[in-house]
Amino acid sequence: MLRHRLACSSAIVTIVGAAMLAQSVVRTADPIKRGLKESDFPRTIKVTDNVYTYEDFHAGDEKFTTTNMFVVTDAGVVVADGQGNPAATKGLVDAIAKVTPKPITHVVICSDHGDHTAGNASFPSGVHYVIHPASKAAMGKNAPADAELVTDKTSFKSGSEEIQVMFLGRAHTGGDLSVYLPRQKILFLSETFLNRVFPAMRSAYPSEWLAALTKAERMDVNIYIAGHGFTETGPVSKEELRAYHKALEAVIAEATRLHKAGVPLEDATKQANFGEYAAWTLSKSQGPIAIRKVYEELDGKLK
Ligand SMILES: [Zn+2]
Repeated sequence: MLRHRLACSSAIVTIVGAAMLAQSVVRTADPIKRGLKESDFPRTIKVTDNVYTYEDFHAGDEKFTTTNMFVVTDAGVVVADGQGNPAATKGLVDAIAKVTPKPITHVVICSDHGDHTAGNASFPSGVHYVIHPASKAAMGKNAPADAELVTDKTSFKSGSEEIQVMFLGRAHTGGDLSVYLPRQKILFLSETFLNRVFPAMRSAYPSEWLAALTKAERMDVNIYIAGHGFTETGPVSKEELRAYHKALEAVIAEATRLHKAGVPLEDATKQANFGEYAAWTLSKSQGPIAIRKVYEELDGKLK
């Protein structure tokens, strides 16, 4: 896999060219169903003139992408999230170097989970990290020691580009940060938005996650970018964020129905009927976890 990765010269894909086909793109997190080949990854996608995403496969049997964003400015490169191991994040760093000679200056840790942070050692030393305090606590000794903490919102200039980092509420991790580019109206939602990936709730806050999605939907955004799943064109990204919101609502509603019916947790995880969402990536592994998490919230066990 690694040898393959080194051998393939990753071309930069543009989503502008795909815009005409926006409505015909296959709505899935599965690369094969999407009409892509495993050898198409990792890949860099040019979203606008200076904003890119980098998609590489998440570890595991079910193939779907972990997606990072990077913004190239006069002053350097601002990165949102990394990959899940040092070799994979080195792939991201190398892909950035193919786009620009400018140095990586900032890394925003939007999701503290290992699949987005365990490769951070491959970022250049001396980059300025930004993180939510809850994520810093969750990462423990793996957290960058001198990171800037953001509890609500901050904004900074990189060259002439304004970068906003915001906390829209507890969602997938509890320390979920998003990166908003007001000039471009691009919102990188990291794991607050899982594009066609089943709501993954191991460390989630189900009802607060819904509220965070509502906040994101009310913002002035042209393109939403997910932390897992494909980078979409603007109109499709809006529909897919809405589709994800509906999926999360449906999963919470199904768990709530079982809870109200007095079904014990062990039986509920087996009886749950997720309808169309049973076909989403990771539904088999994440379905039972989601039921358990919603039960915990309904039982007042989520603090
Ligand atoms: Zn993840």
